[in-house]
Amino acid sequence: MMTRRQFSKLIVGSSLLASVDFGEKSGPLAHPAQSANPDYDLLIKGGTVIDPGQNLHAALDVAVKNGKIVQLSPDIPATRARSVVSAKGKIVTPGLIDSHVHVFESMGPITVNADLYCLNRGVTTVVDTGSTGYAGIAAFKKYVIGSSATRIYALLDINGFGVMMGLAGEYGNLNWVNPQSTVRAAEENKPEVVGIKCRLSRETTGPNDLEVLKRALDAAETSRLPLMVHIGDSYSPLPEIVKQMRKGDVLTHCFNGRPNGILDANGKLLPVVLDARERGVFFDLGHGSNSFDFDVAEKCMQQNFIPDTISSDLATTSINGPTFDLVTTASKFLLLGLTLDQVIERVTVRPTRVFNFGVELGSLRPGTVADISIIEVREGSFVFDDTDGKKRTGRQKLQSVAAIRAGRLYVNRSEDS
Ligand SMILES: [Zn+2]
Repeated sequence: MMTRRQFSKLIVGSSLLASVDFGEKSGPLAHPAQSANPDYDLLIKGGTVIDPGQNLHAALDVAVKNGKIVQLSPDIPATRARSVVSAKGKIVTPGLIDSHVHVFESMGPITVNADLYCLNRGVTTVVDTGSTGYAGIAAFKKYVIGSSATRIYALLDINGFGVMMGLAGEYGNLNWVNPQSTVRAAEENKPEVVGIKCRLSRETTGPNDLEVLKRALDAAETSRLPLMVHIGDSYSPLPEIVKQMRKGDVLTHCFNGRPNGILDANGKLLPVVLDARERGVFFDLGHGSNSFDFDVAEKCMQQNFIPDTISSDLATTSINGPTFDLVTTASKFLLLGLTLDQVIERVTVRPTRVFNFGVELGSLRPGTVADISIIEVREGSFVFDDTDGKKRTGRQKLQSVAAIRAGRLYVNRSEDS
C-alpha cells in the first residue's frame, strides 16, 4: 500500500495537466480549455486576489504564460487559456513565503521535507534558518535546494554545523564558531544564502552568548547580509543582545513565553525592543515547538506590536502540532485581531523586504514569476494551541488548496482536509 508520504510526493510531483483533482467537494481543479492557440498556459479564474504589496483586494482572474504572471483583470475568458483553475470562493495570493523553516531533510533529527510540508501546504518559498553552517551548505544546496520544487534559501548558522546535529550546547566549542569560514561559505553560495543565524538560548550557548553574537555580527557585517538572532531564555539579559542588533537584522521567536522575552515583568514592551523596531530591526514570529505563547502575543498586540513576518519554524518537533504548517500559524493571527490582508502581507511581501531573494517574489505584478497560492478561508469554530499549553478558539482557519510554483500547479493536501 502506498504510504501517505508517498502519496503526497506523487501529488506534489504531478505536472500541470495531470493535477486535475481539486479535492472531493470542488470537482476538477484544472481542466483543459478549448482553444487551438491559447494566449495563456494557465488561468486562475473567479477568485478574490489579495496582494498587499500592490494594495490589491479584488475579484480578479490571473493569467500565466511561460512561468510568468502576464495579466490580472476581471473576467478573462476561459477559452484564452490552455488550462483553467477555478478559484471560486477562494483567495488568490502571491506564493506564500515562510521566513523560518528547517528543511535539510535526513540531516539530523529535526529537519523536514520542504515539498511535503511547505509546497504541499501552499508555501512556494522558504528560508531555511541555519539548519547548517559553513560545513554543510554545499550539501544543502546540492541535495536539498537543487532537488526541491519549493524555492529554498538559507541562512548560515554561525556554528559550522548549525542545528543539524541536534545536540545541546552547540556553541560550547567556540572553535566551531568561525566568522571567516562563514563569510567564505556565504560568498560561495549566494544568491541562495541570504543571511546569517545565531541561536542565543542558555542551552545552546552556555555563558558564550555575547561572544557568539559578536562573531555572528562580524560575519554578517563582512558578508553584507542580515543576521537573524534566535532568542528565548538567553544567558545574558535580552537588552544586552538587542541593543547590538543592526538595522535590517531579524529577531526571531519574538512571541516566545520563555524567560528573557521582549516584555518586562509588568507585560510592557522593553524600551530596547521599541528602540530596535524604530531603528529598523525586524521581528519574526518563528512559532516552532517552543516559541509561541498566546499571553505574550496578546500583550504585544495590545501595544500594537505586530511581527513583521509570520513564520512557522517548521521542524519534526512541530509538524504534528502545535505548528502544523504556515497557514495554521497564520490563522492564529486572525483570532488575535489582524485582518486577512494584514496576515497575507506578513507571508508574502514583508519577507521580501527582509531578505534579498535576487528575484521579485511576494507579488502578483505582471512580469513576475508565477508563484501563486490558492487559499480557502474556512468558517466555523477552531481550537488553536500555543506552545505553552494554552488554547484559543477562532472563527476562521486558513486552508491551502493549491500552489503554483513558476507556473506549475501543485494540488495541496492538508492533514485535516
Ligand atoms: Zn528555527
